[in-house]
Formats: sequence, structure tokens, C-alpha cells
Amino acid sequence: MKALVYTGPHRVELQELPDPSIKRDEVLIRVRAVGVCGSDLDGFLGKSKKRIPPLVLGHEFSGEIVEIGRGVSSFRSGEAVAVYPLVSCGECRYCRSHRCHICPQRKVFGLDFHGALSEYVAVPQQCLFRIPSGLSFLEAALIEPLANAVHVLSKCPSVPDQTGLVYGVGPIGVLVYLVARHVGARLLAVVDCNPQRLGILKNLGADLTVNSSEQNPVETILAWTQGGGVDFSVDAVGHSICRKNAIACTASGGTVIWIGLAGDVCEIDGRAVVTREVEIRGSYAYGRDDFTRSISLLQQGLVPLKPLVSEVQMEQGQQLFEDLASGHTSVMKAIFVI
Ligand SMILES: [Zn+2]
Ligand SMILES: [Zn+2]
Repeated sequence: MKALVYTGPHRVELQELPDPSIKRDEVLIRVRAVGVCGSDLDGFLGKSKKRIPPLVLGHEFSGEIVEIGRGVSSFRSGEAVAVYPLVSCGECRYCRSHRCHICPQRKVFGLDFHGALSEYVAVPQQCLFRIPSGLSFLEAALIEPLANAVHVLSKCPSVPDQTGLVYGVGPIGVLVYLVARHVGARLLAVVDCNPQRLGILKNLGADLTVNSSEQNPVETILAWTQGGGVDFSVDAVGHSICRKNAIACTASGGTVIWIGLAGDVCEIDGRAVVTREVEIRGSYAYGRDDFTRSISLLQQGLVPLKPLVSEVQMEQGQQLFEDLASGHTSVMKAIFVI
């Protein structure tokens, strides 16, 4: 089969690999659409310690079942499915309490083993979600990133009627924005340094767009909220300054949720966190419930494909990753069509 293989920092190659074989509880999927995640880009750049070349990247994907293992009873050949790409142990305290996404033994497609940027991939049946009729393979590749956004906002005590801030509007930030809007946030501001992305958000109805390379984000957000700060903010970047600013922009007693992973250790104003009782929460991936909710939101047409999604072919892989890494691209969310 054809596969796009990460062979070393700054390099992906289209290669011929043997078709995967399936185990008893697995199905073989003919992959149809694979989204590119910020973490795949980190992998491409050699910044992701766990992505060791040679590795097929990609964990946001959908496709068609073409073969089923002997132990698979609830799925049939020909069905369209999306994949929950985390494989957990099923036994630890996290797995037993519906938090399998933070299972210490979890393994992830395209990270711990080959991912989906290929024609075929073997997937355990526990990871499969049926794609409802009416959703395309392309849309179904958005279930995973949208589930991240759903999970982020589940960390917020309340969103309806609240004022919120999304710091960084790459693919995840945009989806967080759309979900927050959908569940009834009153006013939403976004911060980014990419004017094209801010333009898209303006068209999607953002109440305030702040270009952090031209304006001071903290001053601007505080002025916009009459000095009080927003009720909740989401950092979808992860650089120290973004995490720090998200706290400074948040009202006393408000909530800050971090999902961005650009940096590890960061400097924050601990005094502000204590004396203003700002709550900081981390958000990682999604539970199965978030996946289900994401599917229903896509069915309701929450995500407008036109301004957000660019379709690409595997042959364009090297160029696409280079463009995304350079930051000089109008591509918001790239999805490989295979
Ligand atoms: Zn991802
Ligand atoms: Zn576990």
C-alpha cells in the first residue's frame, strides 16, 4: 500500500509498505480522509519525542471497513467509520472511571505505532465509531479535533451567557470558538498573530479579534471587558506568554483552560492565580462521550468546511508539512484525501 512515512526531521516520503494484517478483534480500514494535527506537525519538525521515524503519522481519520477479524461482531465490511485513536489498557483506575484518555498505558495512532496516512490501517473494534449517513468522510475526519474542543469546554463551569476568549485560532482554537458560540457564549474574543486566521474568525462572527503582533492582547481584552476580564479563556497555543496572558485576561474567579502544547514549562503569575482565584485546568484529548457529541455537532452542520478545510493529496505531503511549518500559508485545517 501507499503510505506517507515520516523518515526524519523535516522529511515525509511517499513509500510502498506491506498491507497491514489484522488481529482477531481488529478490522482493516481503507482510509479515506486524514486530518493533519498540530502534533503531527511537531512530529514532522522532530519536536515530538515519542514520534520516532520511520513512522506513518495521522490520528484524525475516517474510512471504510474492508475486512473484519474473527472476533469482531458489531461491525461489518462496507461500513463507514471514524476512529477514536487512543488505545487504553481498559483496567486501570482511569479506564474504569470513563477517563481512558488519561490512561498511563494509552497508545495513540501515529505516535506509538503507525497512524493513518496510508491506504490501509488495522484498528481494534473498540476504537470504531459509525459515521452517520449524511456525514462525508472528509467531515468525519473532523470528529477527532472537534471532540478536543468539546472536551475543552466541558472543563468550563459555564459557557452560556458568559464572555470568553480563545487564545490562538489554529484548527483547535477555531473549533473551540464554534462550540462555545453554539452553546450560547454571549461574547467571544479571539487572539492570534495571523491576520488571515483572524479574518476567518471575524467572518464567523467573533465579537473581537485581536492581532497580538499589533496590539497588546491583555490591555485590549481588559479594556473590552471594562477592566474586569473574561469569564473563561482557552489557550490553544501553549507558549509561555500565551498561557500567562490567558490568565491575565481572565476575571477573578474565572476559569482558564489550557490545551495548547507548544511549550512544556512556563512562567505564570502565581500571585494573580492565588489572589484572584483564577482556576487553571488542563484539557487533553477527549472521552468517548465527547466523540459522540462531536459527531452530533457535525451532523448539525456546526463546522463550515469552505473557509476552514483544505483538501490535499498524499503526493503533496512534503510540501504541505513545509508550508504548515513555515506558518506562511492560508491553510487552516489540512485534510488528506486518500
Ligand atoms: Zn490531534
Ligand atoms: Zn488504563
